[in-house]
Amino acid sequence: MEQSAAVKLIEDYKLEELLRCPYRFIKRQTANKRAGEVNGRQLMQFAVSHIVNDFYELPPHARTADVVKRLAERWWTPRVAKFENAEHYWDSKLQAVAHLTAFLLEEQEAAPIIQFEQHRTFVEPLDMELTQIFQIVAEDPYGTNTDYIVQKFVVDEDEDVIVTFQHMTAVFCNSAFGKLPSRIDVLSVMSGQRICYYPSEADIPQSLDYMRLVQTVLPEAERLRKSNNVAECRSCPLRSECFSKTAEATAEAVLQKSACLTM
Ligand code: SF4
Repeated sequence: MEQSAAVKLIEDYKLEELLRCPYRFIKRQTANKRAGEVNGRQLMQFAVSHIVNDFYELPPHARTADVVKRLAERWWTPRVAKFENAEHYWDSKLQAVAHLTAFLLEEQEAAPIIQFEQHRTFVEPLDMELTQIFQIVAEDPYGTNTDYIVQKFVVDEDEDVIVTFQHMTAVFCNSAFGKLPSRIDVLSVMSGQRICYYPSEADIPQSLDYMRLVQTVLPEAERLRKSNNVAECRSCPLRSECFSKTAEATAEAVLQKSACLTM
């Protein structure tokens, strides 16, 4: 993500990492070895993305629950040590595979138009470029032949990340595809929850304002530390270092910023 006086490029995956924890994000940028280590959530996300991608590579008749199980055996990490304990590792795998199977079988017939591709667009009202990795973009089975749905499979339900994804996707699609998706789904494989957002033209000014706010907050990110996401902290490689420092002062700043971002 380029950061100058005014941010000119926002890349979704970097923005997500920054929202999860600005402190760790900045440490990664400065090549801090520990900060660069992958955590359990990232390993799960890696597996989930591969399972979804491989599932949709198959013809609809071959997309079965057994296939999801086989793909999970192929892609799920064997690195138990990256989880809180062995029980957490096995529970996470069990839950994720069960929910993922349910989600995928509901969409068994879907024919993705876009599948795990990165796209880029220039958004004139923001004078800024956005890049976004689209996991699944599929035809809306209940709409016209130009209606489409954007779907993102996630392993956590960080509220800031989800709200940002919804606004950014609306702005991106409006600019790049000239038409809003009829629905933006966040599919949480740990809880089994499907979070649906129906963007409308009337909401675009609000989404643009949100992205403007992100644009102004980004250069200040290094002063922030997010300490209110317990699940993220539990498997963070920086945990000991981070908690040995004064978290309280910065926590307040983060809470204020978070309040702005979730407006
Ligand atoms: S322990 Fe938590 S607050 Fe500290 S760097 Fe890791 S994710 Fe951020």
